Formats: sequence, C-alpha cells, structure tokens
Amino acid sequence: MRVAVISDIHANSTALECVLQTIDQLQVDQCWCLGDVVGYGPAPQTCVDLVRSHTDLCLAGNHDLALLGSLPLADFNPWAAQAIRWQRQNLSGDALAWLQSLQPIRQREDITLVHGSPVQPAWEYIHDVRSARSAFSHSQSALCLFGHTHIAEAWQQSDGRKQRIRAVLALPGESLALADGQRWLLNPGSVGQPRDGDPRASFAVLDIDAGAWTWHRLEYDIDEVLAAIAQAGLPEMLGRRLYLGW
Ligand code: ZN
Repeated sequence: MRVAVISDIHANSTALECVLQTIDQLQVDQCWCLGDVVGYGPAPQTCVDLVRSHTDLCLAGNHDLALLGSLPLADFNPWAAQAIRWQRQNLSGDALAWLQSLQPIRQREDITLVHGSPVQPAWEYIHDVRSARSAFSHSQSALCLFGHTHIAEAWQQSDGRKQRIRAVLALPGESLALADGQRWLLNPGSVGQPRDGDPRASFAVLDIDAGAWTWHRLEYDIDEVLAAIAQAGLPEMLGRRLYLGW
C-alpha cells in the first residue's frame, strides 16, 4: 500500500491544491493528514473541505485544538492567536464539528500517527536527539509519522544494544529505505508553512510494502496567498515568512 502523508496545511489552500493535484497523479492508495489543517492562513474553510474530501484519516493539531478552545490561545504567539480568532468566525458549524471529531494520535497498519510526539501528541516537538529518543521510548511501533515542526526530516534508532539516534535526510524525490526491524520517526514537512528554509510545499509518500519513504517539494503561487492574507486583514508577516520558508 502506498500512502501520501501531508501535515501542517495551516489554511493555505493554494499550497494544498497544488499538493493534492500531484498526489492524485501519483495514484496512491490512501492519504493521511497529521493535523494543523487550520491556523495562520487565509483559507480555513476551503482547507477543511479539501482535507475532508481527499484524506482517509486526519489528526488534530495544536492549532486545530486551539481554534476549538481545547488549548489556551495564550500559549500562541500574537499573530497565530489573531489568525485563530479570525478563523473561528470564518468556518461553518459543520467544519467545526468535523475538527472536533479529530484526535492528535492514531494507530494505522501498525504505524503510530501523531501530530507532535507520542510523549505529548498535540504539543511536544521532536526536534533533537533527546526529544527523538523520548518519542521512540513512548511508542511501540517501528514507524511513527509526525508533524508539528514543519521540517521534512527523519530520525532513526539503530537496532543494536546502544540504540543510537541519528537524523537522516534525503533529497526530494530520493527514497529512504526503511528496512525491516529498523525504527523510524518520519516527518513529511509542512504543506502550507515550511520552516526548513525551503519555501516549497512539502509532503511525502510512504510505500508500506516496499519499505520506502520519499519526500516531495512543490512550488506554488505564494503571491496569491499573500494577497488573500491582506484581503482577510491578517498580519502581513504571516505571508512574508512563506517566501523564506521559516
Ligand atoms: Zn503546525
């Protein structure tokens, strides 16, 4: 089975449409979303509609939960909080009910899917060796898919007694081989607000039978998102950061 994995869309429908079009061409069997459909961007309703109609499974991210009032807005920076308040007024009751139905952690095909980390599914970041080690120890699965950092990255735990942790990267389009018995934490990167210095929309394809993980990066029209952010009266920096990929 081949699965497209998307995450951290952040109400950027221009990037999401571009990614979904490519996923369609790749003819995968399923599409899984690791959360943060909303937050930051100008098109929350369109993104909820697209994710609902194009994915087989979706997790709740911290921005999704904050929008629903399940996490305090005081924990977010002022621009993020402003966007969430605006988005609350611009989502249908049906969209809110759907967001309410999502969980920040799920299990599928012996794989753990989590927004942040198995340690604290909605909030904890896996961003260094220490947090990766902690994530491995809180999960039973060989494979754990995560988002939240907006960085396309992978962490591997070696099978020997020392269980060393190392970060592994591959160029977009090149596959990581996930050999049997190895343990991996895999992040597809962010569709709508990449923070790894590459502004292109990011997603990945997991080939479960072949044991392969492949990142993809796609250029999209950032100018269009900037115009929509201005139109919505959201902070300009939420658009400008998209050009930088941070
Ligand atoms: Zn996010």
